[in-house]
Amino acid sequence: MEENHALRVMNQVGALITDSHIVYTSGLHGTAYVNKDKIYPHTHQTSQLCEAIAKHFSLRSIGVVIAPAVGGVILSQWVAHCLDIRRAGFDTLGRLPEEEYKIEEVLSVYADKEGDDFVIKRGYEELIPGANVLAVEDVLTTGGSVKKVVEAVRALGGNVVGVGVLCNRGGVKPEDIGGVPEIYALATVNFESYPADDCPLCKQGVPINTSVGKGREFLAGKAT
Ligand SMILES: [Zn+2]
Repeated sequence: MEENHALRVMNQVGALITDSHIVYTSGLHGTAYVNKDKIYPHTHQTSQLCEAIAKHFSLRSIGVVIAPAVGGVILSQWVAHCLDIRRAGFDTLGRLPEEEYKIEEVLSVYADKEGDDFVIKRGYEELIPGANVLAVEDVLTTGGSVKKVVEAVRALGGNVVGVGVLCNRGGVKPEDIGGVPEIYALATVNFESYPADDCPLCKQGVPINTSVGKGREFLAGKAT
């Protein structure tokens, strides 16, 4: 999937917000936002995006796909499913050549958030040792969550072959998330952002978007 196509799909479901006044989790302000929550209710678009990630990693002998909970669970399922179908040899109509269905399946797991950490439990920890693992995530801002998942996988003896994301919006590089071999992003966006006390949008009195990001909290903090 080319980058423009991925952005078009995200735009189609209203996941790309532009010309707004957003307060990011970091506390910085800016005009644009990727609202991942708008993607998941649309299974066709979600599967298309995940198939594109799967396609990129399809020759890497991946045994397990993992993601940080909660939203990432959906991506983990779809990406693993698409990888599994490819390796099992289904053609585009879903027909299965029987002799090829002897390849190991691709598993989908996720890591639970516990405090500031991500923990692999639920018996999933038994699937990681020795496996080639692909980590997936929706939006990389600082890469903090996926970095913790990468560390948890390695601590269990899993081999992280790469990280696949819908959108890299923080210019996150492999060395920022534990030196993974590769980050593959369907889309890369660079939103200009400003410190709250030097925000041109605030100065112009542009209303803050309270439905996404930390806008509501920002306004509540201001009021007290
Ligand atoms: Zn502002």
